[in-house]
Amino acid sequence: MRGDGIRARKALGQNFLTDRSVLSRIAALVSAGTGERVLEIGPGKGALTSYLAEQAGRLVAVELDDRLVPLLRGSFADNPRVTIIEGDILDLDIRETLARYGTPPWKVAANLPYNISTPVLFRLLDVRDLFTRLVLMLQKEVGDRLAAGPGGKEYGVLSVLFQLHFDVTRELLVRPGSFHPVPKVDSVVLSFVPLAQPRVDVGDEDYFRRVVKASFAMRRKTLWNCLKGGALGVPTDGIRDALARCGIDEGRRGETLSLQEFALLTKGLLAAGGTLPPRAP
Ligand code: SAM
Repeated sequence: MRGDGIRARKALGQNFLTDRSVLSRIAALVSAGTGERVLEIGPGKGALTSYLAEQAGRLVAVELDDRLVPLLRGSFADNPRVTIIEGDILDLDIRETLARYGTPPWKVAANLPYNISTPVLFRLLDVRDLFTRLVLMLQKEVGDRLAAGPGGKEYGVLSVLFQLHFDVTRELLVRPGSFHPVPKVDSVVLSFVPLAQPRVDVGDEDYFRRVVKASFAMRRKTLWNCLKGGALGVPTDGIRDALARCGIDEGRRGETLSLQEFALLTKGLLAAGGTLPPRAP
């Protein structure tokens, strides 16, 4: 869509990928076979879409920008395997939408709009059973967090919640010059392969998420200071006992706990009577 006269909208995170070698490497990572189904989020001007359309048995692409949708539909009009949906990926019922175009499993490919990458990641996490593989381009800082192990400043809520359910691999660093307009930051391509079972048994996943979020809520404070506030439904003494029974020093910081330790702590707090506050009606 060269010379289409459409200016990139910053508010929609529009940095279009123009580097052919990066595009073909992403397509190779998706590696959709003839019979496979692929969801693309934010096809933009269709650069990655063209590569994916060559491979996939079914390609459903969701684009929010109503200026780009007619151009995309025009570009792929002669390919009945490609469907362009105009919509907001954050509003769409992904499960129900994909069910209209084929049975699972699906793959996901996206150069995500960076301003909404975290909420999109959480939506994909919630429907992970639909997918065999996700290949996502993210702002490097977010990608580093997703792939980080315990002990460093990148390790946080995203690392723990995603590594519980996916093998996360950092595949490719992409420099700003590969995009138009040129972004201010580096990007990375990550692949996510959903695990058949969570990596560890966490007892109750909603409660686990709460424990993890509370543990990272004040990064410079100790675990004890982060957890004692009452949000976990366990009295202060119970938290101290649970930490001791799990063999986790209350003076440690959340960023030092492994996934296994977070699971142990969650179960320890549940055993101490931990509950989530009732949801607002
Ligand atoms: N895939 C294209 C490429 O690589 O050149 C475009 C990537 S650009 C970083 C992100 C795309 O996502 C833009 O086309 C933008 O309009 C679209 N987008 C932004 N917010 C969206 C949303 N909530 N739902 C669906 N698409 C969205």
